[in-house]
Amino acid sequence: MPEFPEIRLTQEHADLKKWARDFANREVLPLAEKIDRSDEYPFALEKKMGEYGLLGISVPKEYGGLGMDLTGAVIVGEEIARASLSASFIMGVQNGLAGSALSLYGSDDQKSKYLPGLVKGDIIGAYGLTEPGAGSDAAGISTKAEKQGDSYVINGSKIFITKGAVADLLVFFARTGTAEDGAAGISAFVVEKGTPGFRVGQKLEVMGARGTATAELVFENCRIPAENLVGHEGDGFLIAMVILGKSRIGAAAAAVGIAEAALDQSLDYAVKRKIFGRPLSKQGVIRFMLADMATRTKAAKLLTYHAATLHDSGEEFMKEAAMAKYFASETAVWVAERAIQIHGGYGVSRALPLERYMRDAKILDIVEGTSEVQRWILSKELLDGE
Ligand SMILES: Cc1cc2nc3c(=O)[nH]c(=O)nc-3n(C[C@H](O)[C@H](O)[C@H](O)COP(=O)(O)OP(=O)(O)OC[C@H]3O[C@@H](n4cnc5c(N)ncnc54)[C@H](O)[C@@H]3O)c2cc1C
Repeated sequence: MPEFPEIRLTQEHADLKKWARDFANREVLPLAEKIDRSDEYPFALEKKMGEYGLLGISVPKEYGGLGMDLTGAVIVGEEIARASLSASFIMGVQNGLAGSALSLYGSDDQKSKYLPGLVKGDIIGAYGLTEPGAGSDAAGISTKAEKQGDSYVINGSKIFITKGAVADLLVFFARTGTAEDGAAGISAFVVEKGTPGFRVGQKLEVMGARGTATAELVFENCRIPAENLVGHEGDGFLIAMVILGKSRIGAAAAAVGIAEAALDQSLDYAVKRKIFGRPLSKQGVIRFMLADMATRTKAAKLLTYHAATLHDSGEEFMKEAAMAKYFASETAVWVAERAIQIHGGYGVSRALPLERYMRDAKILDIVEGTSEVQRWILSKELLDGE
């Protein structure tokens, strides 16, 4: 599909886009089906992404990252997700969640200890906010961090953690205050794999973004040094929300990538497939379907790039991030479903990636705040001025 001229990329961004698409086609696409079917974590691919700088797009250059803006991360995320959502998750958690949290809020020691390894892929990072009893209601987490001398003792568990089963390092959130303190009683920490009392619990099989080692993580009297606190006590909820606000734009970009891949394949198929003696693309219903798919994909892309541009110019972006996240993820589900319809029986067969697109897109509708949560954020801002 032709690029949208409305999104005027700088030369640096345009070069990055071309480079990311080449990388995705060469290194990611050939592995996409295997990652999905086997549900096995692609360690070698992650390492390769590290060699090429993709795991540290937003990490400052002094720690080995590319030091790019969010638009750069969005461009790469979109291109990688066109090939494999799983690969874009692996990259996004490393760069946009664990890497961003430490880049923005970590101490100098934490940055120099962890960021270079995260960027290269020598350290696999994860981000643990969600708990069995608190997903959308993130301020309701109950994992406890109790200060004892110069340590914190952690008890509780995290669920649905991407890369959780393989992570060397977890940036996580726990309650240093009481339940009554709500969001103000939450703090951010890091914990390393192998710390006594910290273990992988259940491994979770999910319908999409497969091969990303989604797991439960358990803390049982896990003692970590006080210097593992990220930022200050009580900053945790703010840190979680700032990081999630940014990464929602990344999730929207991944959704755009899936929608574009589904649309491209549908346009191609509609021209090639002959039905009743003429190409499918001559059927009015199919033409309109493709027109709708292109329009919604374009709208999602414009919202996504607009939100990233606002962020990069230092303007308020949370509202637009919420709009982009839910619109793009719902669009990706819808476009993937239409693509399956256009392909008929081939669309539902596993010989084509279209059913994977639909399963993957649905994951984006849930992670980093469901579509309902995004609408809730927006409605509060629109109606209550919050
Ligand atoms: C594949 C995958 C990977 C993930 N990776 C991570 C990760 O790396 N780190 C991490 O911390 N978390 C991760 N998550 C967790 C994810 O962020 C949560 O699943 C998500 O935020 C929803 O929380 P929940 O599952 O507890 O659902 P709930 O919060 O229980 O929501 C249930 C339903 O209620 C709706 N709902 C909630 N609030 C409202 C409201 N105010 N108004 C109307 N409806 C509402 C929701 O939209 C949903 O439909 C991952 C999840 C998945 C599936």
